[in-house]
Amino acid sequence: MRVIAVDGPAGAGKSTIARLVSAKVGMPFLDTGAMYRGIAFAVLRDGVDQNDADAVGQLARLTELVLEDDALWVDGADATQSIRSAEINSVVSVIAAHSPVRAEMRDQQRLWISNHNGGVVEGRDIGTVVFPDAILKVFLTASPTVRANRRVEQSGGDAVHIAESIAQRDHLDSTRQDSPLMPAEDSVVIDTSEMSIDAVIDVIAQLFKDAESRQVQR
Ligand code: C5P
Repeated sequence: MRVIAVDGPAGAGKSTIARLVSAKVGMPFLDTGAMYRGIAFAVLRDGVDQNDADAVGQLARLTELVLEDDALWVDGADATQSIRSAEINSVVSVIAAHSPVRAEMRDQQRLWISNHNGGVVEGRDIGTVVFPDAILKVFLTASPTVRANRRVEQSGGDAVHIAESIAQRDHLDSTRQDSPLMPAEDSVVIDTSEMSIDAVIDVIAQLFKDAESRQVQR
């Protein structure tokens, strides 16, 4: 499957960069973080215990997520804005650590990509678990200060509070048992702290071109 995997911690520039790469290479964009956020939204909506892996897994299987362009509908309701709230930020990494939830999201992500004939997929475990055969895997990082400042620029808020929230999510995401956040062995790690967006896009577009021509030669 023709997939570019874009993984990394919160605020490393994944969304902006993956969207622009998708436009540049003409492949659809899938934001898998939005899917986990959609399940967190359903958990809060229904008052399900966020620590109950089986109950949240059951809810994940029953919840209809529709992702098109930048919008997310959860069971028919437009949740595009609500899934970016501080409340969702504080729940999403807890529910994303549950294996039944991850199994369901993984299946839905593979189906989405198969229905769309490939894509640029942004997440935490795309290169390691969801699409281990991706043509290209990039792992974007940036220093914690740069990441917190970017989030403040994007959505406003208090820098210290946002830095704490990011650090807490990073910790939960990298220490969970099931598919923790980490670079795949064959991923290209790019530190975006000192790079312009255009420079990062150029690097990824070139890596993709090289990877595709290697595939043709095989
Ligand atoms: O990318 P975003 O910050 O929107 O992701 C929200 C949360 O969803 C992450 O902090 C992580 O807990 C979870 N996530 C995940 N696996 C993915 C994508 C996101 O566990 N592939």
